Amino acid sequence: MAVQQNKVSKSRRNNRRAHDSLTAANPDECSNCGELKRPHHICASCGHYDEKEIVALTEEVDLEDDAA
Ligand SMILES: [Zn+2]
Repeated sequence: MAVQQNKVSKSRRNNRRAHDSLTAANPDECSNCGELKRPHHICASCGHYDEKEIVALTEEVDLEDDAA
């Protein structure tokens, strides 16, 4: 096992951890449905990107009904 040679000071440790914080997501409004979406991704609720429909979303599929 690797063992550090020198004690890391509180200052050095805290300086390292200064960059560890998570940054919040930056949601964007869908231009089609107005739902919040991730920037540069298709809209999860309507499947549009840049005014165009990319993914056609189907209605709710009932898996129990299809079992037979
Ligand atoms: Zn949308």
